[in-house]
Amino acid sequence: MISHEIKIAFDEYESLADLDKADRQLCLEAQKALKNSHSPYSKFRVGAALRLQSGKILHGSNQENVAYPSGLCAERVALFNWGANHPDDPIEAMAVTAHSDEFPIVKPITSCGSCLQVLAECEKKQNQSIKIILHAEDGPVWIIKGIENQLPFLFFEERIATQ
Ligand SMILES: [Zn+2]
Repeated sequence: MISHEIKIAFDEYESLADLDKADRQLCLEAQKALKNSHSPYSKFRVGAALRLQSGKILHGSNQENVAYPSGLCAERVALFNWGANHPDDPIEAMAVTAHSDEFPIVKPITSCGSCLQVLAECEKKQNQSIKIILHAEDGPVWIIKGIENQLPFLFFEERIATQ
C-alpha cells in the first residue's frame, strides 16, 4: 500500500485594495457582470469576468431556468463565450463574485465541479494556466493559480483528446 498526499496552494488578501490594479479591476468587472444574472429561483447572483491576453474583458453571469437543470453557472457562461468567440486570445485570469439579497457573503464562493472541469479544458486548449480570483463582497479575496490547485483529480484522458 502506498499513501499519497496532494497539496494545493492559494493566496488570501484581506480586501480588494490589496490586489494589483489589473486584478482589482477584473473583480469590479465581475461585479458588473452579476447585474445580468438571471436568478429568480435561488436569488443568488454570481458574476464572472475573464481577462484575455489582448486585454479584452468577457462577462458571464448565472442564468437560471424554470426547468432547473437547464440553467448554467456564471463561470461556464463566460468560458463557453470565450471558446465560441475568442479561442485564440488566451485567458489570463478569471474573477468570480456573488451577491445574495438574503445573506452576506463573507467568504469567497468557489466554483462547482462542472465549472472546474470546463476550466481544466480551457487551460489544456490554450496550454496556459489561468489565475482564478475569488472575491467575497464582504470578505477576503482568494487567488488560486491553475486548475491543479482546485481540481487535482480532474478528468483528462490523453488517448481521447489526441484522437
Ligand atoms: Zn459551476
